[in-house]
Amino acid sequence: MDLKSQKYLEQKGLCAHCGEPLPQSSLCHLSHIIPQRAWCKAKWGEDIIHHELNMKLTHPTDICNSGVQMSPNKTRLVEDHIKTIQDAIFNDSLY
Ligand SMILES: [Zn+2]
Repeated sequence: MDLKSQKYLEQKGLCAHCGEPLPQSSLCHLSHIIPQRAWCKAKWGEDIIHHELNMKLTHPTDICNSGVQMSPNKTRLVEDHIKTIQDAIFNDSLY
């Protein structure tokens, strides 16, 4: 199953930003929570930025797409989010 289909099921077919029903998953957008800006990738690495836990499924609109984004400057929130992803990557590496 591709990531869009997986997220679609996890989110019960609802947009992660507005909560309204999504169109078929292939038409939805995978939005990054920590944005995929060059300095973010440099700071945290591509494995974190492109990890499935850093993605949410949204409508393919700017409002919903950017609505799930976490400001990289909200240090505490960002650190908790990054830690969750690092733990997931670590746990995956054990099996
Ligand atoms: Zn939406």
